[in-house]
Amino acid sequence: MIRIARERIAALFALAEREATGGRTDLADRYVSLARRVGTRYNVRILPEYRELYCRGCSAYWVEGRTARTRLRAGHRVRTCLRCGRERRTLVHGGPRLPSRGPEARAGEVPRDEGALAVAGSEEEAAGLESEEPSEDD
Ligand SMILES: [Zn+2]
Repeated sequence: MIRIARERIAALFALAEREATGGRTDLADRYVSLARRVGTRYNVRILPEYRELYCRGCSAYWVEGRTARTRLRAGHRVRTCLRCGRERRTLVHGGPRLPSRGPEARAGEVPRDEGALAVAGSEEEAAGLESEEPSEDD
């Protein structure tokens, strides 16, 4: 029974993809919601590769630029449903990338500059704190 449910889900997603590329987004959305219902009914998880394809809020089959928008934000890929506005965020492999970690930074003089700035900043901060303390007594 579970095997049949898995096959049914795969078939429904295949149909959804075909209808979405053919322009029938309403049918694609219907197939997605049916696939999700089969999953709930037989306690079968929707495979991760399928979960990327639809909105969890309104079961819309996501077609890039038509029913979904994808943006990259601080180590996350954020896909927004253009029908209901729900966002789905996935971690981009490797996490947030710091500019100083790039190959150009390693070859250049960026790390040395950063070190000098960090020392100067901490000294200024310490001096500022010391000078502020007596004025608070007034
Ligand atoms: Zn949605």
